[in-house]
Amino acid sequence: MTGLTERAAKLDAEDPLAHLRGEFDLDPDVVYLDGNSLGAPPRRVAGRVEQVVREQWGRRLIRAWPDSWWAAPERVGEKIAPLVGAAPGQVLVADSTSVNIFKALVGAVRLSPKRSEIVVDAATFPTDGYIAESVAELTGTVLRPAVVDELDDVLSDQTAVVLLNHVDYKTGRLYDMAAATAKVHSVGARVVWDLCHSAGVLPIELDALKVDLAVGCTYKFLNGGPGAPAFIYVRRDLHESFRQPLSGWGGHRDPFAMAPAYEPAPGIARARAGTPDILSLLALEAALEVWDGVDLADVRAKGLSLTGFFIECVDELLGDTVEVVTPRDERRGHQVSLRHEDARALMAEMTAREIIGDFRTPDVLRFGFAPLYNRYMDAHRAAQSLADRLAPMK
Ligand SMILES: *Cc1c(COP(=O)(O)O)cnc(C)c1O
Repeated sequence: MTGLTERAAKLDAEDPLAHLRGEFDLDPDVVYLDGNSLGAPPRRVAGRVEQVVREQWGRRLIRAWPDSWWAAPERVGEKIAPLVGAAPGQVLVADSTSVNIFKALVGAVRLSPKRSEIVVDAATFPTDGYIAESVAELTGTVLRPAVVDELDDVLSDQTAVVLLNHVDYKTGRLYDMAAATAKVHSVGARVVWDLCHSAGVLPIELDALKVDLAVGCTYKFLNGGPGAPAFIYVRRDLHESFRQPLSGWGGHRDPFAMAPAYEPAPGIARARAGTPDILSLLALEAALEVWDGVDLADVRAKGLSLTGFFIECVDELLGDTVEVVTPRDERRGHQVSLRHEDARALMAEMTAREIIGDFRTPDVLRFGFAPLYNRYMDAHRAAQSLADRLAPMK
């Protein structure tokens, strides 16, 4: 048992990203393994928000809109672009992920008006499935749930768009974006990738893979804060024909002309709808500065190593009292899911002792590992805490 404690200490001492933890305002007594639901606050955010409120809102008042605010959705999008492999001008930060899924799906169906089907990952995060269902109804298309490993069974020349999750929120499984994108494209359909659980923690190559559209959260591994606005990517060559359904004035070619008719803005700005939520957007802008100079390949390497070490701790301390649901090979994101019939009560007990992961129905314990601030000792303490409850003899 002491072997694992020593290993954790050694791995932490040798971790090339260890200094980044200092960028975060974390309670030293808490083991925080839920950054895949709500990222921890980077230290610089509180001061930035205060500055925005006092100096921009307080002193510049309405003048801050043209100075610092109106262009923020595109400006903050440019900070996310390198994290998802997008050249400039293709990422916008606005609205929630749910809203952006709606824009992306309707926009994609409109790109292929002769096709009659929408395909969605059958195990998807609920909001994606719910929105897809509504889009099917609104656009008069048929919704087809699919097992991602068996896309061939549902894809056809009727498929307009396929909505996929890069990392499964429940199991932590990472899907092969290159292979699935190629498969969708082979029938002439568009793909929308939901990057909620992968943005910021592993290299993503949207441009190189010719992905059509993508959306993602910013309050998970991107640490933008509760309710921080989401992002949407639209590949440049689709901009001209992309017509999203929320044709608000914010996405108008000339919003301040107050013209009677809607005319979409050129470029990614047409994905805008209404007034952006500036305080959250500028908090996110500060949070994203933590990635300046950070190589996502290093972040990925640490994420795999951290999750691998956690699985090793679970194996050694818990044996087969829990089932490791997450793939043990590299087909995993940065979370490890364990199955146990008492998952809900176990997580409640751990959380009461400040070891924070989360629970998903009916029986899954989730532990998210944020490579920018999680330590190997966090992984070990979480596994030990579970073992104290489930395998006290070990
Ligand atoms: C977290 C998450 C969402 C959240 O959508 P909101 O509109 O921000 O509530 C959507 N999709 C996936 C896959 C998620 O993990």
